[in-house]
Amino acid sequence: MKNIVIFGAPGSGKGTQSDLLVAHYGFDHISTGDVLRAEIKNNTALGQTARSFIDRGQLIPDELMINILAATYDALPKTAGVIFDGFPRTIPQAEALKEMLAQRDTAVHAMLELDVPDEMLIERLINRGKTSGRADDNAETIAKRLEVYNAQTQPLIAWYEAEGLRHAVKGYGDLQEINAALCSVIDAL
Ligand code: ATP
Ligand code: MG
Repeated sequence: MKNIVIFGAPGSGKGTQSDLLVAHYGFDHISTGDVLRAEIKNNTALGQTARSFIDRGQLIPDELMINILAATYDALPKTAGVIFDGFPRTIPQAEALKEMLAQRDTAVHAMLELDVPDEMLIERLINRGKTSGRADDNAETIAKRLEVYNAQTQPLIAWYEAEGLRHAVKGYGDLQEINAALCSVIDAL
């Protein structure tokens, strides 16, 4: 059973590549963004809280996010493995994930990083905004999300490097080529 973190800036293609990995390996997939958007759609109390942060391009507070993640993880069938998409996004979240998995006698086996230049991220997110219906895919919120990524999430690159788990791949060009690069990392685990 593998636990794999897929990592990258907003618009780096974490969701797209996760879907390809799920199809290839039969992994379970936790997308924290999708979990939060489902709560917003159902207008739950959690959804209302989440919306106030997401619409401003901010992160949901760590403690809340960590509880959501643990509940989502424990509800999965966990057969071949789990892909964590959108979590961790801060160093406290990474530490909490490490501890949560240790308590369950397992660990993160790899962090797969999708590298995409900033100008390409902005272009992708602006384009996605035309059809995604996502309130956060607009120029102003995108700029804020990239700022939050650089300040709070990007430091995880060095954190996972120090853990010996980081594997960076080029996150632009042909989708299948990106997928093949990720699969060769996973196959070597
Ligand atoms: P991508 O396009 O690569 O899938 P994304 O940044 O566009 O990434 P999501 O992962 O879908 O989007 O997350 C959307 C929003 O949900 C974030 O901007 C943030 O407000 C909130 N969010 C998601 N995951 C977390 C997390 N781990 N911690 C805090 N907030 C989160
Ligand atoms: Mg996503």
